[in-house]
Amino acid sequence: MRIAVLKEGAAGENRVALTPETAKKFATLGATVAVEAGAGGAASITDEAYREVGAEVGAAAATVKDADIVLGVQAPDVAALKGAKPGAWVVATFDPFRERERVEAYAKAGLEALSMEFMPRITRAQSMDVLSSQSNLAGYKAVLAAANEYGRAFPMMMTAAGTVQAARAFVMGVGVAGLQAIATAKRLGAQVSATDVRSATKEQIQSLGAKPIFVENVAGIEGEGSGGYATEMSEEYQKAQAELVSGHLAKQDIVITTALIPGRPAPRLISDAQIATMKPGSVIFDLAVAQGGNVEGSVPDQVVEKHGVKIIGFSNTASHLAADSSALFARNLYNFLSAFWDKEAGKPVLDEEIGNAVRLTQGGKVVNERLAAQ
Ligand code: NAD
Repeated sequence: MRIAVLKEGAAGENRVALTPETAKKFATLGATVAVEAGAGGAASITDEAYREVGAEVGAAAATVKDADIVLGVQAPDVAALKGAKPGAWVVATFDPFRERERVEAYAKAGLEALSMEFMPRITRAQSMDVLSSQSNLAGYKAVLAAANEYGRAFPMMMTAAGTVQAARAFVMGVGVAGLQAIATAKRLGAQVSATDVRSATKEQIQSLGAKPIFVENVAGIEGEGSGGYATEMSEEYQKAQAELVSGHLAKQDIVITTALIPGRPAPRLISDAQIATMKPGSVIFDLAVAQGGNVEGSVPDQVVEKHGVKIIGFSNTASHLAADSSALFARNLYNFLSAFWDKEAGKPVLDEEIGNAVRLTQGGKVVNERLAAQ
């Protein structure tokens, strides 16, 4: 069993899907581990660190040759996988709804694509969930990046020269990233409030010491669909939410938006007219900027200034914390493959529930139900 890891090819991708820690663990399972030279460099992992735990380090073609499993953060181009065994597994994120052509190319090449974004949200798969591990770090980084652009302090400070007021921070979308954003803004000393379409988040917001801002008494309030994900909201709800949020936004210094709906463009939460009501010097961080954006006018990796408000967002937020995000991503992949490791076969054998959820291609065909339904 040969497990190969290539240097990530996408621009701005600093993460790596294998760390020396997980390389060692895969070796303990009996696998040979091969890494392309320089693959960990942007995450502060040297080639030497991989060699020390017994991994082969070499050129891309030699690394992938005869691989049974290729691990990636973002799925590599099919061309980079030439030489892998027929039917080899590629375990990575595929962005399957938006990258249909790549999925088709994997099918055509006879590769088995396993998409980590499609990991079901069930208790036993929590330790395998890359969306959670990466969103958590992204929520933290979003607050730090916003604080950096903000020309004032977060905490209240009483000084000999007078008092500095605490910043007001508002988090829109309280999933994994939003919860971490609330906790981080609280730690920095801001006065924090938050909103979501899922009413279950109200208690979670309160438990972190933040104030929930919620639309009440409107049809379609329960915005929770399958797997704990949000659904699209009724027009009536969206109107009521926009009114409530508008009044609140005008009083904020920092806004972090995190709202996503799987398989659909990110919902628009803040319009240009609402930005115009905000205080000059306020900062908005749009964590959904790469999925179409929650904020009108946000541009990935740029600081856009509108009406005196700075709007920022990274195309790949977790990649800005590459050492930690790689460590967690790599563990998610190890937890996934090791949970299904068949000692006799010397390879992982997936069960139906998780296998059918994550498998995109098999036997030359696209086989995934969620993709078919789209
Ligand atoms: P997500 O990234 O899909 O979306 C971010 C948040 O935006 C969600 O809370 C969503 O409700 C919210 N949102 C969507 N549209 C909105 C709108 N118009 N206005 C305001 N907010 C809006 O969410 P996520 O971080 O993946 O988490 C969703 C839920 O799933 C959470 O409760 C989380 O704890 C749960 N979860 C469970 C597991 C597991 O059991 N294995 C794993 C991960 C997450």
